[in-house]
Amino acid sequence: MSTQKVRVGFIGLGIMGGPMAGHILGAGYPLCVYNRTASRVEELASRGARVGASPAEVAAEAEVVITMVSDSPDVEKVIGGSEGVFKAIRPDSVVVDMSTISPEVERDLSKLLQSKQCHLVDAPVSGGDVGARNASLAIMAGGEREIFERVKPLLEVMGQPTYCGSVGCGQLTKLCNQILVVMTLLGISEALAYARKNDLDPRVMVEATQGGAAGSWQLSNLASKIIDRDFAPGFMVDLMDKDLRLVLESAETSGVPLPGTFLVAGLFKEIQAQGRGREGTQALAKVLEAMAGL
Ligand code: NAP
Repeated sequence: MSTQKVRVGFIGLGIMGGPMAGHILGAGYPLCVYNRTASRVEELASRGARVGASPAEVAAEAEVVITMVSDSPDVEKVIGGSEGVFKAIRPDSVVVDMSTISPEVERDLSKLLQSKQCHLVDAPVSGGDVGARNASLAIMAGGEREIFERVKPLLEVMGQPTYCGSVGCGQLTKLCNQILVVMTLLGISEALAYARKNDLDPRVMVEATQGGAAGSWQLSNLASKIIDRDFAPGFMVDLMDKDLRLVLESAETSGVPLPGTFLVAGLFKEIQAQGRGREGTQALAKVLEAMAGL
């Protein structure tokens, strides 16, 4: 397969998938796209992408099919469903699933694809909507090394790929990433509530701390949104709830207690119970503010 001429299919043009597919088109790859809600394909179609009527139609046109949908059942549907990728994929093609889903499901899908001499790379991402737009995503990839090397130039169009091990290891790494992210976000939410309660200017606090040992992507990108009362997603609470479910299920299976993650998962449930699941994850700050009587 010549990398420069590889025909790419992209399924799922949401907050993340839309700009990611745009970078692939911009880099000169022939691209065929599918999105369940048809209106979301319009921008890429106007830039020259072909549009498939189903995931199967996309697979029929592509040597590498990228999926970027929501949860495990969604990936199972777009790959294994009645009009799914598996129906039309040709031997030696590669599916790169960039959604965040269960490592177990990736292993099952890999076996399914092997039955047609095809390959799976699980390659979830971190870096948010900003990383998707700037092509600066951290990409955590699992699969056969040789297959990863084959798709690496394509992944580099969207960010920085790291090879993490066999199929499922990309998802396991992403779940570690989510443990790190929620702990950091809890710390930021606590620090902001504490600053406000003590009449400290939160902007000054963030400016003074972000260059030091407490600096992080979350502090640089989300603290200002919290201060400005901007709770639009970014990364939705509902999707974080899904990721934390995946983390806690996987941790239960492997016998690893994650007391901090368990605590934050409960706080995200509270935001959902208030009907705010479609807000960005920075809404966690509001729970801490309420606890502080702000
Ligand atoms: P999103 O904006 O809600 O987009 C989800 C996409 O998946 C949409 O194109 C949606 O189609 C499609 N989809 C969902 N279920 C489907 C199904 N059953 N059949 C066909 N298409 C389906 O979500 P997103 O933020 O782009 O997230 C996508 C993935 O990236 C998730 O796994 C998420 O956890 C992960 N992620 C997100 C971020 C972030 O900051 N947003 C960061 C890292 C990783 P419709 O348009 O029809 O709804």
